Amino acid sequence: MQVNANFYGGNIEVVGTTPEKDVLLEIRPDPTPGFRQWWYFSISSAPDEIKRLVITNAEQTLVPMGWPGYQAFRSLDNATWSRVPTSYAEGRLVIEHSQDAGPAWYAYFPPYLEAHRDRLLAFCRADARVSVSALAQVGPDDALDLVEIGSEAPDALHVWAVCRQHPGEVQANWWADGFLRRLLDPADADALSVLRRARLHVVPNMNPDGSALGNLRTNASGANLNREWMAPSLERSPEVFHVRAAMHASGVNAFLDIHGDEALPYVFIDGCERLVSFTPKQDALQRAFGAAFRQASPDFQQVHGYPDDKDTKVNLTLASKYVGHAFGCLALTLEMPFKDNADLPDPEVGWNGERSKRLGAAVLEPLLAVLPEL
Ligand code: ZN
Repeated sequence: MQVNANFYGGNIEVVGTTPEKDVLLEIRPDPTPGFRQWWYFSISSAPDEIKRLVITNAEQTLVPMGWPGYQAFRSLDNATWSRVPTSYAEGRLVIEHSQDAGPAWYAYFPPYLEAHRDRLLAFCRADARVSVSALAQVGPDDALDLVEIGSEAPDALHVWAVCRQHPGEVQANWWADGFLRRLLDPADADALSVLRRARLHVVPNMNPDGSALGNLRTNASGANLNREWMAPSLERSPEVFHVRAAMHASGVNAFLDIHGDEALPYVFIDGCERLVSFTPKQDALQRAFGAAFRQASPDFQQVHGYPDDKDTKVNLTLASKYVGHAFGCLALTLEMPFKDNADLPDPEVGWNGERSKRLGAAVLEPLLAVLPEL
């Protein structure tokens, strides 16, 4: 039996095996202790050698509430993923291992790999309207990519979307893929309308080195980027430093910060309504965006979300709160589930990469709806 996590985004450590044919595993933490939840590895075993994969430190993860009701992902080709029977009891996540011959891959969520990134950027570069640039070099191998398209008129509206500040929340990268592919579709009238009036600035992966390392929340330096927006530094959080500077250079009329939520089985947005600086205009925009988003995608809902007293709702170190406060604009955090959308469940795959892409595509409609008011 061989377990391997020594590849892009990989995370797991083998603790041992048992006579009952269990493989005991532990999720490795980020450089900042306490942050662990993402895992992704491959396993090769002889037929009948292994029965179950047991993550023994599931209770010590950042969000243990993420495990009840969660079903793990498995792939036989590292490309097509489906859910497998999984249970959570006594602090351990137990995944049933199939006896198929050949290697299998297991992951918390279908990974968005370097090949996906390369294909998306090649698709963007092939469009003469698009500018793809490296906003910064983060670590020796990891560029912070920025994709820009749309009006270059002096009065163009500036819409920013920042995805995957938290590297374990790979839904956000899938979302960016779907968002950009629809935005660049020359036959899509909604996309053409948005691009005629606005300039779009999209960061598909805000945390490239953390993604490569298989981290949950932090970059390679151990910084949780979504707590760095008040005072980013070149040493600790260069990603936020550079993106924030570019936002102040362009101005911001609307901002989307894309995430995944471990516990809630719903798609939801978190706005700026608790900030003391929140204006009636921001309030109207938030409501209009939410209403149009519900129309555009039944995957989006506004019944379930963060409680009103959650401390992050007034914390200006978070991207959407900082931007909403600094620019007085529409600024939202968008959360997608790891489990499923409980309103529209899919027993085969639950919420997955493809569904995240479709949600990214669907966001064009609420964006178009609020554009005249931005
Ligand atoms: Zn997040």
